[in-house]
Amino acid sequence: MMREVILCKYGELILKGANRSRFESQLIRELRRRAAHIGNFQIRWAQSTVYIEPQTDTEDVEQMYQQVKKVFGFASVTKAVACEKTMDAIFAAARAYLPEKLRGYKTFRCEAKRSDKMFPLKSPAIAAEVGGVVLEAMPNLSVDLTHPDITVRVEIRDKMAYIHAGQERGAGGIPLGSGGKGLLLLSGGIDSPVAGYMMAKRGLYIDALHFESYPYTSEQAREKVLELAHELCEYCREIRVHVISLTHIQEVLRDTCEEEYFTLLLRRFMMELANRTAEEKECTALITGESLGQVASQTMAAICVTDEVARYPVLRPCIGLDKEEIVERARQIGTFDTSILPYEDCCTVFTPRHPKTRPELSKVMQQEARLDRDALLQEAWDSLYTVAVRQFEEIPLDVGNV
Ligand code: ATP
Ligand code: MG
Repeated sequence: MMREVILCKYGELILKGANRSRFESQLIRELRRRAAHIGNFQIRWAQSTVYIEPQTDTEDVEQMYQQVKKVFGFASVTKAVACEKTMDAIFAAARAYLPEKLRGYKTFRCEAKRSDKMFPLKSPAIAAEVGGVVLEAMPNLSVDLTHPDITVRVEIRDKMAYIHAGQERGAGGIPLGSGGKGLLLLSGGIDSPVAGYMMAKRGLYIDALHFESYPYTSEQAREKVLELAHELCEYCREIRVHVISLTHIQEVLRDTCEEEYFTLLLRRFMMELANRTAEEKECTALITGESLGQVASQTMAAICVTDEVARYPVLRPCIGLDKEEIVERARQIGTFDTSILPYEDCCTVFTPRHPKTRPELSKVMQQEARLDRDALLQEAWDSLYTVAVRQFEEIPLDVGNV
């Protein structure tokens, strides 16, 4: 087997003019961080492509490739082999490398790209010749130019030629951290982890804020949230999970306010505490998993009532998605199975039987006036503790104040 390399091609990054070199170095740093856990790889870039080259024959290229697929900022990724820039070397590499890659497929197409315009053959001729070599080596394959099962690509680049088959889409998006940091309101549900993923994909580092209501919510519920954060770290490196207890606020709401307003009042408390957390932890946006109309607290009127207390932009990337679409994404990113573990969330404690779906702000504020909000907020704030969860590390165990 020939030694494979990994090629990663930029997405939108290419458009970013002056920021480009900063984005590039963020990408390289992220790849090097991951490579450090896997083996000895050289990582360099040229011509809108990052080259990841194992330095010995024993490096786990496949594992590195799986990591690369989770790095935001690449439009496409592929494993490839490199060879000298002569047609003979390219033929030899194609014969040696492609049969294994093409096994099991019925039809293929061959494409070529020449960034070195000095190369004597033009792209269509290279493609045709290499296609011929593939057909010779694998007589069971046939060519299908419009809907091939797999595409073979030959790239004539600066120093070497590269051959590969089965290029895949990369994670897309823009490099992690290039847009600052957002505070994700992370419940144990399906939607908020997806929301966090989507905003990380658009360049935000993620801090998370989780509200618990011990003993109404269990220790397992908290562990589940840390597990979800850990799963998100596959994409966002590290998440500091800030945990705040809403127990007393919820009890006071239950004892003091009209039941149909419970959820809205609680959500306004959550927003206030999120404001303060964002400020202290230097986040510039709040992120939630809300989807318009999904539940009573996510009607337009209800969202207006909660947004009224927010002092930061509230990003709601799931707002226009159906539940089914959110579930599909949760499966893709790997958080779904954890999300459906059946532990109580604080929002499901003391849920009103008939929540207000078209609340009036003035009525909500009348309810709030019955409470000593500042004292309740301060008390909740004092319960905050933080757990840092990182990719490639176990979730810390000795946490919590329970
Ligand atoms: P999810 O699947 O994310 O739990 P949901 O459909 O259950 O969402 P709600 O429970 O109404 O909807 O919550 C809406 C959003 O509010 C969540 O997506 C999340 O961002 C935030 N949120 C809800 N509960 C909590 C919590 N316990 N801690 C932190 N944020 C929460
Ligand atoms: Mg929920």
